[in-house]
Amino acid sequence: MPLPLFPVTSVGSWPRPDWLLDAMKRRRPNLRELMDQATLLSIRQQEDAGVDLVTDGEQRRDNFYSFLCEKLDGLQLMTMADLLDHVEDKAGFEALLQTLDVPAFAIRNPTVVGKLKAKAPLVADDARFLRAHTRRAIKVTLPGPYLLSRSMWVKRLSERAYPTRAGLIDDLVALLRAELLELERIGVDMVQFDEPVLTELVFAGKSSTRTFMCAALAAQASPESELELAVELINRVVEGVTGTITGIHVCRGNWSRKEEVLLAGSYDPLMPTFARMKVKQFVLEYATERAGTLDALRELPPGAQVGLGAVNPRTSEIEPHEQIVARARRVAELRGQAAVFLNPDCGFGTFAERPINDAAGATAKLAALAAAARDLR
Ligand SMILES: [Zn+2]
Repeated sequence: MPLPLFPVTSVGSWPRPDWLLDAMKRRRPNLRELMDQATLLSIRQQEDAGVDLVTDGEQRRDNFYSFLCEKLDGLQLMTMADLLDHVEDKAGFEALLQTLDVPAFAIRNPTVVGKLKAKAPLVADDARFLRAHTRRAIKVTLPGPYLLSRSMWVKRLSERAYPTRAGLIDDLVALLRAELLELERIGVDMVQFDEPVLTELVFAGKSSTRTFMCAALAAQASPESELELAVELINRVVEGVTGTITGIHVCRGNWSRKEEVLLAGSYDPLMPTFARMKVKQFVLEYATERAGTLDALRELPPGAQVGLGAVNPRTSEIEPHEQIVARARRVAELRGQAAVFLNPDCGFGTFAERPINDAAGATAKLAALAAAARDLR
């Protein structure tokens, strides 16, 4: 579907209504129906805000990757608190959860406990629902292959099905690629893969301790070889796909409004990695000062688009109009105006029970992007 210049979109998640959260918690028999209603509400709110590329708000998901448990055999949903009993350095992990302001009971991780086998499409059904309920272009989000390879494999629980993390990787790539091809067939305008763990690799240093970042539990090799692996995996997933805009979203965490507990540092050290990725768009956060300056964007591959994070989803105040416009103009100078999309830095409700904004706040933030886009056009 043709898009206007400076298309406005969200990064994926939208705050769930209280009645949906309540129904999720109590596992109400009409949950499916309520999820449909919440999705319709999310679509309308985005449309009212002036969004050009609409998502389903991830209303059916507990978080941006845990939902895979319902789609694949071989996974078990475990809270951070459950996982404490299984990680090798229990005391270290517990201390980390406390210092990082992570709610150990509210964040759930899909953990491999058997061979992965699809029992339902990962998101294709949700994409069809979205396609049927908006006239606008649509974007669908999927967890990235590298993130999944780090978070799903927990040695003590996973080694019977997959003795090594490497063994899990081929299955993950095949599943995500099949899903991407299906989304392309459905006519999804953009598919975004979420890979927030990449920042942890460059900012957390060569530490052998586990870090929380999206439950990146699997032991890592050197950051260099992990980044190499991340490039290889995403390229295997998107290879040759041109019928939909493929994107990758990389941020520094979105679980707290306390800026000081989230990772900090510019994208510069990730640019050599991005430069080798065959995705069309890089969805990056720039509304937070922790992300450094826009100059790093020069280093993206030729022809790459930027999903410019121009509002911070974790604050209540709305960014000044002139600031959003000026930053978008700057990126247009660096990358060409046809390459600039406008979005928030991250989702508004990455973790269902712990949204970092409410629907009114999210709508106001997107409306500010839409107003900037009108001026820019
Ligand atoms: Zn994010």
